[in-house]
Amino acid sequence: MAATGRPLPSPPTGAVTRFAPSPTGLLHLGHAHSALFGHALARRAGGRFLLRIEDIDASRCRPEHAAAIEEDLAWLGLAWELPVRRQSGHMGEYRAALDRLAARGLLYPCFCTRAEIAREVAAAGHAPHGPEGPPYPGTCRRLSPAGRETRLGRGDPHALRLDMAAALAEAPPAGGFSFEELGRGRLPADPAPFGDVVLARKDVPASYHLCVCHDDAAQGVTVVTRGEDLKPATALHRLLQTLLGWPEPLYAHHPLLADAAGRRLAKRDGAPSIRSLRERGHGPAAVRAMAGFPDRG
Ligand code: GLU
Repeated sequence: MAATGRPLPSPPTGAVTRFAPSPTGLLHLGHAHSALFGHALARRAGGRFLLRIEDIDASRCRPEHAAAIEEDLAWLGLAWELPVRRQSGHMGEYRAALDRLAARGLLYPCFCTRAEIAREVAAAGHAPHGPEGPPYPGTCRRLSPAGRETRLGRGDPHALRLDMAAALAEAPPAGGFSFEELGRGRLPADPAPFGDVVLARKDVPASYHLCVCHDDAAQGVTVVTRGEDLKPATALHRLLQTLLGWPEPLYAHHPLLADAAGRRLAKRDGAPSIRSLRERGHGPAAVRAMAGFPDRG
């Protein structure tokens, strides 16, 4: 039983789960809950637990944060398979996946700045809100081939966006997209509201959505364990998995850890770091209990 009061869902025998933090800071109680959840499911399944460092964004991620996260997880009593996958060492694999989509005409370069997009969205009036804000208005999708070539030729910085309409036309599953949530059954998941999402950023030649799907497939993850704040992204992940021929994992989204007043514990809301709890003299068992897993799963 986790702190959220819900029993752990039952994983299939031999399940491979993972914890995939972005090393942008110290591990906090919410992260610890997520790691313990994935670890507990793998143990229950007699399976395997993996750690993956999602560090493609060099401007926000630091090796010292990754090292501190690993140290805190080990202190909590968790063990994972080695070697740990670090996304920054696999950029060529993400590039190859992007090339496969580009070869099918499913990507286009987008030269817009954030300010230009905001202006266009405002001018269009009440654009419907997608899961990550208003969908991109499609400005660069409508560039002429010559205009696109000119801008590429002079090296203008650009992102790569998925042409959502073309992608949906290429991969329309009978009955629509869906995913299997452990213990809950099949849930419908429509990627269309994301619109033309960025799959390679201007500053980082990949994106969270692409890398997470690539790596779950590459590492043989069979149950994606993560917080339910990421559940809406699953619709887009099912589309990418289908387009790229990657296997469909099961999903186990856990409720976010909340404090006694019911507020979710996230770093930006001042959730205590594992470091600070250690420094105040709490031991691993006490901190595991605060994170909802007194018996280590
Ligand atoms: N790296 C992501 C994060 O720290 C989590 C990715 C995932 O579990 O799908 O929010």
